[in-house]
Order: sequence, then structure tokens, then C-alpha cells
Amino acid sequence: MEDRSIQVNLCTSRKEKPKSDELQFGRTFTDHMFVMDYSEPAGWHDPRIVPYQKLEIDPSAMVFHYGQSVFEGLKAYKTSAGEPQLFRPEKNLKRINHSNDRLCIPQIEEEFALRAIQQLVELEKDWIPEAKGTSLYIRPFVISTEPYIGVAPSRHYKFMIILSPVGQYYKEGINPVKIAVENQYVRTVRGGTGEAKTGGNYAASLKAQELVSDSGFAQVLWLDGVEKKYIEEVGSMNVFFKIDGEIVTPALNGSILEGVTRNSVIALLNHWNIPVNERRISMEELRQAHKDGLLEEAFGSGTAAVISPIGQLTWEGEDMQVNNFTTGPVAKKLYDTLTGIQYGRVEDPFNWIVPV
Ligand code: PMP
Repeated sequence: MEDRSIQVNLCTSRKEKPKSDELQFGRTFTDHMFVMDYSEPAGWHDPRIVPYQKLEIDPSAMVFHYGQSVFEGLKAYKTSAGEPQLFRPEKNLKRINHSNDRLCIPQIEEEFALRAIQQLVELEKDWIPEAKGTSLYIRPFVISTEPYIGVAPSRHYKFMIILSPVGQYYKEGINPVKIAVENQYVRTVRGGTGEAKTGGNYAASLKAQELVSDSGFAQVLWLDGVEKKYIEEVGSMNVFFKIDGEIVTPALNGSILEGVTRNSVIALLNHWNIPVNERRISMEELRQAHKDGLLEEAFGSGTAAVISPIGQLTWEGEDMQVNNFTTGPVAKKLYDTLTGIQYGRVEDPFNWIVPV
């Protein structure tokens, strides 16, 4: 990219900001957004911050037909001193390029994209809510925009970043949820797109989620797409278990999305000298551990909820309660430490925090 400066076109009137206790996830967007275009042979060009606005896109734009799109999700947090900060943003940018590669979308310069996030968040920092557990959700994404109805990689794209002030995921803090083990539908298979953060994966997950939420389950536990025996993820989170004193999580196998939170959980546990075993975990093993009274904790990990304890797993009609439906000590310590680092309340031994 030749011109690396970001043009800024400010809006003339600012929107009213929602009150902290009225924040809903993903429904309100800030005054400005970042946009950059890709075409050939120019490559990525024309980076700009402009008023948040609708796009004009041709109905034949390839994203509407063949789904070539990727996205990321991270947050800006405000410290008690009022300073905005990011948590491991370079991991998200690395992952968007991993997703880009899988979807045949051209690579984005990660350092430049980080600067774009920083500049946009700095401009919109008054939008970062200050109440406990609130933050500014950052959604970078790429869509294919070439007007062409033919199955091939698009030659035109837009990379955009939009921002949304969000409340604490669970209003009451962390609380265990009920999970249904999914036996019929699968999220992805090895060799598919599960390792990438692309819209199609989420479209494919809706049916299972819809069916179980009617019966009071918060999410589904996804099993592997081939044998439907091995545990992969929970909803749109990675998953951890404590079995007989050992923390285990499914090994990255080509169909699991590598979460930034997952990576951080493993690093923290290692830092505390608590070993974590990344390996294959079958549902049958989990059932046996539960039967033997050895299933001590279960929790999901992800940017939105940070740590989400699992209070009950239901599989083939059998309800398995975990830790009497209460939050276990490992989940609690991880939640407190991760949120503590994110909001600048506790020391950051890994230099995970990036100032805006
Ligand atoms: N798995 C899936 C399928 C997800 O969508 C997410 C959310 N990005 C995660 C895991 C957790 O990733 P992270 O910790 O980076 O939010």
C-alpha cells in the first residue's frame, strides 16, 4: 500500500450515547468507522475514517452469493484512570489474516490495521462505557465486493472496522449455564473452515442453537464432524474441563477456532504452574468422569463472556451437573485475572495490554 496515512472525515452531528445500564450487545454503533478498499492491481488503498453510514454495494457483489467474508471481535477497555486499552489485538489481526488465507482474501498489513484500530478507538474513546464490565466491542471485517456472479475469488474487497459499546455479558457477573451436547448437526469438519472466522460457520451453527434454546439451553456443545465422539467447542467459545485435578481442553485439530482467550487461559494456567493438557476428549470420557465424581469444572472461553461456567451438560437425554451448578475456583480465578488485566486492575505479566 502506497499512501499509509488515514484520511479522516468527521461527522457533523454526534449520536446520543446509550446509558451504561441500557447497553445491549451489538445494537448501537459509534459515530465513525474505518474503511479501506482492495482492487487489482492497486492492492489495499484509500484507508479512511468516515462517518458511520450505509454502504452502497452492487446486488451482484460476490459476498452476497458465495460468502467470501471474514471478521474479528475484540474489545477496548477503559481503565480506572480513564485510559482506553486493547487486549492482545495483534492476535486478532494475525487470525484475520489466517482467515483471509483460508477464504482466498488478500492479506492485510497487521501493523497498519492495528494503527487503524488505535486511531479509530482514540477518536471514539468517549463511546467506551465506564460502568463495571462494559467495553467497546471492535468488529474488523472483510467482504468481497466485486460485482460478478461466478464462483471464484473476488478481485475487490472492503476492509472495515466498526465499534459498538457493550454491557457486561452476564449482568449478574459469571453464572453457570445449561449446555446441550449436539448430536445431529456439526459446526465444521477438519479441512473445512472451522479454523477461520468466516460468516458461513455462524450461519451453519444457527439451526442447532435455535432448536436447543427453545428447551432452555444457553448453547450447544459441538462434537467433531466425522465421528461425533470428540468435543470441539461450546457455542462460539472454546471449552475447558477439570477432570480429576487436571485441566484439559480439546487440542487444535484443524476444525477448532483458536481463541485469543483460550490461548490466554493456557498461558495463565502455565504461569500458575497448573498444567493444561491439550488433547482429544471424548463425550464418553466426560460421562464416565461425571459418573465417577471426577468432573470438577467445565467452562467456555471467549472475548464476549471471557469465562462462562457450564453448570449442566445434557447428552442423549442424560443430565450431568457440574460442580453443583456453581462457578468453580479455576473458572473464577481465570475470570478475575483476565478481566483484571483487561481493565488494568491487576498486573499484566505477559505485556498483553496495548495502549490506544
Ligand atoms: N470459537 C468460536 C467459533 C468463536 O466464534 C470464538 C469467538 N471469536 C471463539 C471460539 C473464542 O475466541 P476468542 O477467545 O478469540 O474470542
